Amino acid sequence: MSYQSLYRKYRPQSFSDVVGQEPVTTAIGNQIKSGRTGHAYLFTGTRGTGKTTVAKIFARAVNCEDPRPDGSPCGECEMCRGIADGSLMNVIEIDAASNNGVENVRTIIEEIAYRPQKGNKKVYIIDEVHMLSAGAFNALLKTLEEPPEYVLFILATTEVGKVPITILSRCQRYDFHRMPVETLVSRMQSVLSEEGTKVEDKALSFIARQADGSMRDALSILDQCLAFNFEEVLTYDHTLEILGAVDNSVFTRIMEDITEQKLADAIKLLDDTVMKGRDIQAFVADFIAYMRDLLLISAEGDTEADIADILGVSTDTYEQMKSVAKKLETDTLIRYIRIFSELSAQIRYSSQKKTLTEIAIVRLMHPEMQEDAAAMRQRLAILERKIDKLERDGVKVNAASQQTGAAVQAPAKKLPLPKALPEDVQMACDNWGRIRADASGALKSLLAEAKPSTDGSNLVIVCGNDVSAETLKDNADDLKAILERELKKEVTFVIYGPGKGEDPDTKYPDLESAINFDVEINDNF
Ligand SMILES: [Zn+2]
Repeated sequence: MSYQSLYRKYRPQSFSDVVGQEPVTTAIGNQIKSGRTGHAYLFTGTRGTGKTTVAKIFARAVNCEDPRPDGSPCGECEMCRGIADGSLMNVIEIDAASNNGVENVRTIIEEIAYRPQKGNKKVYIIDEVHMLSAGAFNALLKTLEEPPEYVLFILATTEVGKVPITILSRCQRYDFHRMPVETLVSRMQSVLSEEGTKVEDKALSFIARQADGSMRDALSILDQCLAFNFEEVLTYDHTLEILGAVDNSVFTRIMEDITEQKLADAIKLLDDTVMKGRDIQAFVADFIAYMRDLLLISAEGDTEADIADILGVSTDTYEQMKSVAKKLETDTLIRYIRIFSELSAQIRYSSQKKTLTEIAIVRLMHPEMQEDAAAMRQRLAILERKIDKLERDGVKVNAASQQTGAAVQAPAKKLPLPKALPEDVQMACDNWGRIRADASGALKSLLAEAKPSTDGSNLVIVCGNDVSAETLKDNADDLKAILERELKKEVTFVIYGPGKGEDPDTKYPDLESAINFDVEINDNF
C-alpha cells in the first residue's frame, strides 16, 4: 500500500475528532440534530484549519441515515459507506482555483436540476471560492439564493475579502481560527501514539510553532521529519537539522554579539549557520520571529509562565531570551525588526542574500547610520556602555570627556576675547566711522543713522526711533562680530530708540551728556 500522509490518514471522521474549532462543529452538529440546516454555508480561515475536513463531515452527516448524538455521520450506514467509497455521487468537490469560469458554474447549475439517486442531499463543496471569476460569481448568485431543497452549498475560502458581498449575504458564515501551539502539539501526540513513534516534546513544540496555527502544516512538517529520521526517537536537534532551521540559542548568541558590538563574531555565527546549509531566507524570517518574541518578553509583567507558554519555548530558552531582552530597549528592538523586515523583502529575489544579511547586521550595530530617535537612543546606550567599561578599566572619564569636549569645540570657537574697558568703549565711539564702514546691507544704514555713546562701561547705541532700534537688535550678532573684529575686545552694548513723542532723557537719564558728547565727535568724524 502506498504511503498515506499523516494528515490524510488521521483526517477526522466526526465533529468530535476535529480539534480547535469547537464553536463551528458544535453549531453545525446542533443544526443537523434538529434537522434545520441551511442551503448555503461559507467557511473562512487560514489554510489547514479544518474547513474542508468539516465540510466533508457535514456533507456526510446531512445524508447519514442515523447520525450520532453530536450530529456526526455514523460511518456505517449505506449512505456513509457509499459516499466514502465513491459509489454514491452525493458529495461533489470543486476546486475553484482551477475551475473558475462561467462554464464551470453552468455545469453545476445543470447538474443541480437532478435529484440525488439516493439520500437527502446533493452537497457541493467549492474550495478556494474567492478564485471564481466575476462572471462565475454572477452565474452562481441566483442558484445560491434559491437552490432546490435537496442541494447544499459549502463554500470555503482563505480570503474572504475577495468574495463578493452579494455571495456573503446569501451564506451562513463560519470562521475557522488558527490553532494554538498546545492544540497542535496534543493532536500530534495522539497521532504519534497511534503510529507508535516517539518524538521529543521540544521537537513537537518547535514543529507546532513552524506550522503557525495550521493543523495540516503541523502534520506535514511532522511527516517530513519522520521520513528523514531513522533514529528511534525524533529529537529537537534532528528536527532543526531536517528543517534547516536555526536553534534559538544561535539567535541569542547573535543578539548578544550585536548588543556588545562584536561585529566579527556575529558575522562568523551567520557564516557557520549558512555553512551548515541553513536557508538564509528562513534564517531571516526566524530571526524576526525571535525578535518579536523578545519584544513580548520585554513587554511582559509578572505573567512569566504565560509568556513562556505562548512562545512555546522551554524554560531554559525562556531564561536565555529574558536576559537578552533586558539588555535591549523596546525602541531598539522595533528598529531591529524593521531593518530585518526590509531585509526579508530585499533578499527574496536577490542572489546576494548573505551579503545583504551581513549589511543588515552592520546596520543593527551602527545606529549612527540612521537619524531617527530610536537610533539616537541606541547610540546613547552604546556610549554609556563604553563609558562604563572605561570606568571599570580605571580611566577617569570626567577628565577624559572634558578634554574631548575641548578638542571638539576648539576649531569652531575662537579664544575668548578680553572684556572691553571704558576706554575701549570710548574708542568705539571715537571710531564709529570705521565700524560703520565694516558693516554691510541693512546694518550699514542702521549704524549710519545711529549715534554711539557710553554710559561709563557699556556702549549705548541710540537709534533715531524704536523701529530702527528693534531692527538693529535683530542684527545684534553681526554688530557684535564687527565690534570684536575692530576692537579685539568683547563689548557689551545697549541699543536704544525713543518711541514716538518719547523723551530719551526720561527713559535713559544718563543719556543726554553722552549723546551730546558723542554726537559731536561723530559729526566731526
Ligand atoms: Zn451514516
